[in-house]
Amino acid sequence: MATIDGNRLLADLKALRRFGATGTGVVRPTFSEVDMASRRWLVERMTEAGLDAGIDGVGNVIGRSRQPGPALLIGSHSDTQPRGGWLDGAMGVIYGIEVARALPDHAIDVASWADEEGTYWGFLGSGTFCGEDVEGCAPLDAAINSAGLAGVPKARAEDGRYRCYLEAHIEQGGVLEAENKKLGVVTHIVGMNGFDVTFTGQQNHAGTTPMGLRKDAGAAAIRFAHEVQTTMASVAGPHSVWTIGRIAFDPGAPSIIPGRAELYVQVRDIAPETLRRMEDHVRALVAAADRRGPCRAALSGGDDGVRPAAMDEDLQKHIAAAAERHAPGLWRKMPSGAGHDAQVLARRMPAAMLFVPSIQGISHDFAEDTHEADIVLGCQVLATAAESILAG
Ligand SMILES: [Zn+2]
Repeated sequence: MATIDGNRLLADLKALRRFGATGTGVVRPTFSEVDMASRRWLVERMTEAGLDAGIDGVGNVIGRSRQPGPALLIGSHSDTQPRGGWLDGAMGVIYGIEVARALPDHAIDVASWADEEGTYWGFLGSGTFCGEDVEGCAPLDAAINSAGLAGVPKARAEDGRYRCYLEAHIEQGGVLEAENKKLGVVTHIVGMNGFDVTFTGQQNHAGTTPMGLRKDAGAAAIRFAHEVQTTMASVAGPHSVWTIGRIAFDPGAPSIIPGRAELYVQVRDIAPETLRRMEDHVRALVAAADRRGPCRAALSGGDDGVRPAAMDEDLQKHIAAAAERHAPGLWRKMPSGAGHDAQVLARRMPAAMLFVPSIQGISHDFAEDTHEADIVLGCQVLATAAESILAG
């Protein structure tokens, strides 16, 4: 059985943390100077692990095995949120390198996908690898230029090279910790979509305008928000979530009836049909608000939502068996409420994910952390799963 080196794993994770370290967290947005330095460091680690490694034209770091395939591809992302934690993504990349080191005679490729967090374009690296190109995004082109990647070829998933994709990640929620579980075998990755909704009324004096004569865009937005909160459950599923995370009144002054209000509704679910019902429900509520008046209501966005992805069932079995072997009874199946590169890779090849617990469920924050024993256990489970997948 492949045995990982826990100390080597933790030492590399801590070394990667130094790129952009800020307090207990990390500030390492894609294409920043520290991000590019960390990518060059990852190339060195992958090369040491016996892989042919390089940075491609969108910033992906990819290490290719010289062993006969089809290969197992293991990856995640090493960029961070503007104020991020040290394990989000980074852990999965270092896991990949450690598993490749623990299984030197196996065909294991390792990847750090560029811009998962969407500093310029969410899932840029994994999407490009799977054949999707981003065009017409000037800030992205400028960032690629200044990172020195203009003209560098983009890596693409070659037909026939890969058997499947595995990604390990921190849970970023509190389910595992609350249930005293050490590992999560991911069944689905949530899909999501979001809409800007704008209400247009008539700005006016808050003291002299009688209630019956108002076209209060703020009141219309609040009524709509209430309808979303109270009626969405009728079309949603047991795992659905919906959020109005932003609302703004214009001009936003105590004695002015808002002439305009904007809010953002986001919906997420793991089932494509349920997600579509929720999207349709938002559209129907906006249309009804517009018909009702006296304010106009209009919706925009919703065209670039992310579809839910099911994880491969056979791969889930391999991961579950490895989890049961190393931590009997201390694992569970669970959906992922956060988006991950694995949902992009799943369009090209069978894909699966493993979660380890987040302390207090905190992520996208400097306080993000996981117990070292849990980090080491997760990597060992991934290595055992990788070995059984490649043997099967
Ligand atoms: Zn992540």
